[in-house]
Amino acid sequence: MPGVSKQGNVTDLPDEAGTASPSSSKTRIVDIPDVLTVKQLSDLLQVSPIDIIKQLMRNGIMVNINQAIDYETAAKVVVTYGYEAHLQPQADRKVTTQVRDIKQEQLKHDRAVGGDTRPPVITVMGHVNHGKTRLLDAIRQTHVMDTEAGEITQHIGAYQVEVKGQKITFLDTPGHEAFTAMRARGAQVTDIAVLVVAANDGVMPQTLEAINHAKAAGVPIVVAINKIDIPEVNIELVKQQLADAGLLIEEWGGDTVCVPISAKENQGISDLLENLLIVAEMEELKADPSRPAEGVVIEAQLDKTKGPLATVLVNTGTLSLGDTIVAGDTWGRVKAMFNDVGKQVKEAGPSFPAKILGLNSVPREGDILTVVASEQQAKDMVEKRRQMEEQESTAQRGVGLSNILEQVSTGQVKELNIILKTDVQGSIEPIKNSLAQLGTDEVRVRVIHSNSGNITESDVMLAIASQGIIIGFSTDSEVGARRLAALEGVSIRYYDVIYNLVDDVNKALKGMLEPTYTEVVEGRAEVRDIFPSGKASKAAGVYITDGKVTRGTSVRVLRGNELVAESTVASLRRFKDDVREVTAGYECGVGIRDFNEFAVGDMFEFFRVEEAG
Ligand code: GDP
Repeated sequence: MPGVSKQGNVTDLPDEAGTASPSSSKTRIVDIPDVLTVKQLSDLLQVSPIDIIKQLMRNGIMVNINQAIDYETAAKVVVTYGYEAHLQPQADRKVTTQVRDIKQEQLKHDRAVGGDTRPPVITVMGHVNHGKTRLLDAIRQTHVMDTEAGEITQHIGAYQVEVKGQKITFLDTPGHEAFTAMRARGAQVTDIAVLVVAANDGVMPQTLEAINHAKAAGVPIVVAINKIDIPEVNIELVKQQLADAGLLIEEWGGDTVCVPISAKENQGISDLLENLLIVAEMEELKADPSRPAEGVVIEAQLDKTKGPLATVLVNTGTLSLGDTIVAGDTWGRVKAMFNDVGKQVKEAGPSFPAKILGLNSVPREGDILTVVASEQQAKDMVEKRRQMEEQESTAQRGVGLSNILEQVSTGQVKELNIILKTDVQGSIEPIKNSLAQLGTDEVRVRVIHSNSGNITESDVMLAIASQGIIIGFSTDSEVGARRLAALEGVSIRYYDVIYNLVDDVNKALKGMLEPTYTEVVEGRAEVRDIFPSGKASKAAGVYITDGKVTRGTSVRVLRGNELVAESTVASLRRFKDDVREVTAGYECGVGIRDFNEFAVGDMFEFFRVEEAG
């Protein structure tokens, strides 16, 4: 089968005898995702990318080999080669997965063509009060680049410093929570994690969490033992604790770099930075500045006078003034760009953090930014993403324990990642040992994080980012964690008996576990007005009485005790703007898929069906 990849699939329509042959002259079907690069399309069709670029030019679309095109555009091209395009089945079409695939493909390209070395992007992690913020401040103050008199660094979410003529980019929001939240959205920007451990405090619960989060992401860790200015601290003890936590430093025969520092006294900072450069060199971080930019939104807000602002970290390529860009479900044109000292810049190259002005609405942190060829392409891409988001939010997401096998069969999951939380430390080892005995030829069980205590939002984020599930043993989950898990379709299962826990995981691996579903009401609203929306449809002006409404969510229309309709929220507006969510106490306009017969006084009940944990 030619060019079969995650990005698509080619099949021959069977002839009358029911056989398929690649050489037959019948129309061949090609499954195409919502977005793919020219290179991916050429692989799929097994034709030269140059040929495809020529075809696109004939259709008035100027793109290069690494640029992304949408389904419609691709569909026009494939006809020329005797194919019929089919939109790839929904299960394979997660926006984030798709974009991530493209990103990985592009990074692979950058490495293959040699590319230029790009600065490493660093996240500082560690336990609360161990000195993460102080360290970031110390680095910024002592190593910031060419700041002219009077210029002060501005908080834009990241900054760059220069060490021995080489640049390093630091993300300004410390902690593994932000790091994993980004990953959960499909954006891995961090190349190296700096783990700050206070010498007077040693390895603490969040230190362990940070280690596991970085390891789950496959990001190398550099340890900074901080606060060495405090008299009589025992650095050796900290090293021992790190070894116990599975982080063996170089001095002890491992490969983790460890630097003693004092953020307060400015000691060891240069040493730390130089070590970061060494680790970065080993990582061979490459990018191709000559291509259109691909980046990630790391911070975004609405400025009262300037409009939507977003700080973007460019992964590869160069972002230039005037570029048409798509970020998540918004788009725009780069009108102005600023660096971390507030200076206007015309271009932002790889690993360069730039605050940009020109998007039509505020994107979300972790949204992937792509430069596209035309305004029309941007609009089409955004529209399609919105539709997909709607479909996705009504469908099951994440990796539920019971649908693991399905994902195994399609090759999406090869490891069942488990986050284990227990009531007491003593329960962890016996459970881990029992789980280690499970696993089949197709799928391995891996406990990526374990600790005692309640299940937190951070655990859920890790589960999303690692496509894992959470198991609580004689423990509960925090309200925020439960809410996030429900929203993202992450499976949390609770047990009090080890046998039951192990038995369930075993059954899930063998595909024997039946999923159970429950319904969660997310909000209610009252219809106060009805107005036309588009040519033939209507929207309801509602007041959210409690909870919230999210675009794409399921909705029930109730008139008194009568159920009038059950559908999904097709559109959600506040004033003239499309919005994702409106909470209690606000008014908004709601359009419902395939339903127009609203009456003033109707009640809407917004709900979500989730897999019971
Ligand atoms: P974070 O929660 O990890 O961001 O920690 P902070 O950077 O806010 O630091 C917590 C406290 O530790 C603050 O009072 C800092 O002044 C102090 N601190 C940070 N680094 C050092 C250090 O190197 N030596 C000493 N003695 N105190 C430090």
